[in-house]
Amino acid sequence: MPDKQTIIGRFAPSPTGPLHLGSLYTALASFLQARSQQGRWLLRLDDLDTPRNRPGSVTSILNTLDSLSLHWDGEVAYQSQQLSVYRDILNQLIQNQYLYRCDCSRKLLASDSYSGRCRNRDISPDTPHALRIKTGIREIAFDDYLQGPINEQLNGPHSDFIVKRKDGIIAYQFAVVIDDYLQQVNEIVRGCDLLTSTPKQIYLQQLLGYPTPRYLHVPVIIDHDGYKLSKQTLATAVDTSIPSAVIFGLLVLLKQQPPLELKAASVGELLAWGISHWNPAALRNQQSLAIV
Ligand code: GLU
Repeated sequence: MPDKQTIIGRFAPSPTGPLHLGSLYTALASFLQARSQQGRWLLRLDDLDTPRNRPGSVTSILNTLDSLSLHWDGEVAYQSQQLSVYRDILNQLIQNQYLYRCDCSRKLLASDSYSGRCRNRDISPDTPHALRIKTGIREIAFDDYLQGPINEQLNGPHSDFIVKRKDGIIAYQFAVVIDDYLQQVNEIVRGCDLLTSTPKQIYLQQLLGYPTPRYLHVPVIIDHDGYKLSKQTLATAVDTSIPSAVIFGLLVLLKQQPPLELKAASVGELLAWGISHWNPAALRNQQSLAIV
């Protein structure tokens, strides 16, 4: 009998500010999902989008996770240390003619779907350009453990997405696929805001011959105006001065129904309870969760 595959999950925040409630919600969900299966839980800083990185965020993220006893396995990974790996894979894709240069301005790209304008143009390497990947026309289907079957039709040139931005920055869609593969991540728990990115990432996995991890897209927390909590909506850092209160509150928001007696428990006890009672199915078919 082969050994049961070890589950490898991860939390991959971008260091664009301190962790807010929405990001901690995802962090705890992915922690509980991995730990409840005796899996590994990795921490990666998605720090490629340098203009959006904020000084001090990395330290603040690490301290917050630490103060909540959300301890990760191994060394913290940083995408910024992987640039030569991305470059090599981009070069392979260029050689195999999967990529093309695109010099479209923001204005030209304003509409929802890309027109395919640059697909057959011969743009000089000296012109500032992004790199797009040809997707062809293909249906991508996957079964999200929480959100059910998802099907997306990649619609030829309209779906050709950017793998390297015009400002030279490696695009999230590309980097995330390479890193999850190299870190052997086989289960991804993240917010539903990334559900529409997943078909693109699966397309890349298929093209590069990587296995597709299992996905669990948890609801995103929205404020009373219906906006996702994010740095853009100025979601504030979570006050972690009473860590057990934070974990208890998150378990409630994760619909795990912790018994009220646990309110007096320590963080360690709360996490142990969360791990042994973890029931992700309580989050099925919910893409957002409003907090008042
Ligand atoms: N770094 C991304 C973010 O903070 C998440 C990446 C992922 O989970 O795939 O939104």
